[in-house]
Amino acid sequence: MPLNDSFLHSLRAIVGDDRLLTLAEDLVPYSFDGTAALKGRPGAVVFPLTTDEVSACVRVAAEALVPIITRGSGTGLSGGSVPSPDALVICLVRMDRILHVDAENLTMRVQAGAVTVKIDEAASKHGLLYPPDPGSMRISTIGGNVAENSGGLRGLKYGVTRDYVMSLEVVLADGRITRFGSACVKDVAGYSMKDLFVGSEGTLGIVTEVLLRLVPKPAARRTMLALFDTMEAAASTVSAIIAAKIIPCTLEFLDRTTAGCVEDYAKVGLPTDCEAVLLMETDGHPAAVTDEAALMADIARQQGAREVRTAKDDAEAARLAAARRNAFSALARRRPTTILEDVTVPRTELATMVTFIAQIARHYDLQVGTFGHMGDGNLHPTFLTDERDEAEMARVHHALNDIVTKTLELGGTITGEHGVGLAKKPWLRQQMGDHSYELMREVKRALDPKGLLNPGKIFD
Ligand SMILES: Cc1cc2nc3c(=O)[nH]c(=O)nc-3n(C[C@H](O)[C@H](O)[C@H](O)COP(=O)(O)OP(=O)(O)OC[C@H]3O[C@@H](n4cnc5c(N)ncnc54)[C@H](O)[C@@H]3O)c2cc1C
Repeated sequence: MPLNDSFLHSLRAIVGDDRLLTLAEDLVPYSFDGTAALKGRPGAVVFPLTTDEVSACVRVAAEALVPIITRGSGTGLSGGSVPSPDALVICLVRMDRILHVDAENLTMRVQAGAVTVKIDEAASKHGLLYPPDPGSMRISTIGGNVAENSGGLRGLKYGVTRDYVMSLEVVLADGRITRFGSACVKDVAGYSMKDLFVGSEGTLGIVTEVLLRLVPKPAARRTMLALFDTMEAAASTVSAIIAAKIIPCTLEFLDRTTAGCVEDYAKVGLPTDCEAVLLMETDGHPAAVTDEAALMADIARQQGAREVRTAKDDAEAARLAAARRNAFSALARRRPTTILEDVTVPRTELATMVTFIAQIARHYDLQVGTFGHMGDGNLHPTFLTDERDEAEMARVHHALNDIVTKTLELGGTITGEHGVGLAKKPWLRQQMGDHSYELMREVKRALDPKGLLNPGKIFD
């Protein structure tokens, strides 16, 4: 049902005309996220500036039984911020302030719409590091990162967003404002509600403020590229590095298709004639970095690397990391539709999974570029396709199903970092089992009894 005048009037009273969109042409950019082929036009979009405004909008929507879709920058890759028809989108991008850097306690307080890279830059000014660095960090918001529990290129050593969230300010489904967690390094008082909200994909509440943990910036860093003639050799290098008890900060993988697209796009000197490229980075004390880098290069050669190159300076290292971050955008230039998977397997199963993906692409006659956070076992097979070609899309869906099914057979997970949203919900029950799945539904019902927060996401 379209949103009625009295509802829109109440929203206008909270945010004013300037921060309320209702015209069809203005709503189009808020009808999709980064996930291909998923769309839904909202009834209105509001841009609150404060937590009180968020709370007031939620109260009005709860009263009128209007579904609420919380949105950050809309870079999500599982359809999480795709609106249900005529829903209210609460978009937090204007709540983007860095509120306080506490260099003594190694924390930072930010509004939920703060852009991830700005957080890292603010930390850096104090000699500190905010480690989670999703490929989208130049655009994504911390609220989106918290809601998806996003990972990044440095995840292998430093972990994911959850590991850096100390406390959250949240607006609940009825508009109440509450806080979970604290500024204490240790805190076991009560259930860890903040951890329930991290990764809840906008279905349990709206995060408005985040207290983040920071770490000292590592004194040194070494970045290398290892080039391989087989994907299996790249996968076994990852396993061998970990088995040698080295935890690099980055072990990222690009297959031949992806490396070719990235090189076309970014021109950073990536080779285009090898089957797999590993971007390897170690950081920490300068002496340890030198030792680890030498050891990693040796291991890569022993596992069959054709060549190992070391970035000559920080600028080249930054260019290589940026090129890897651009993998998705670079692949997206090839065909009209890009469907990116997020399956994750135990690291020992990486070679099996990588080989399986290549077989599936051949079997269904599809173009697939695979890249990912190989050190985390997290692969992004990316289908380069065209949503207007129904026959090809049917083959893509069969291929996706085969890949997800194989992932579960190998003890993996349907999503390592992009969330369930709309894209992965058909497989969630299969992964979790009936009891866990139903328990999660009960949690959702307890916190959002009217089912207004991001309806239709996560659960069938
Ligand atoms: C090029 C590219 C590279 C990417 N690389 C990575 C990567 O390396 N690692 C990774 O993990 N992801 C990656 N992503 C996916 C995406 O960027 C992340 O999921 C990111 O955290 C989404 O942030 P956002 O601000 O765009 O959120 P949105 O897409 O707007 O929203 C994502 C979800 O979070 C919810 N949400 C947003 N803000 C809030 C809030 N304040 N409170 C409650 N719920 C909220 C939404 O309802 C939705 O369910 C990439 C995406 C792209 C396009």
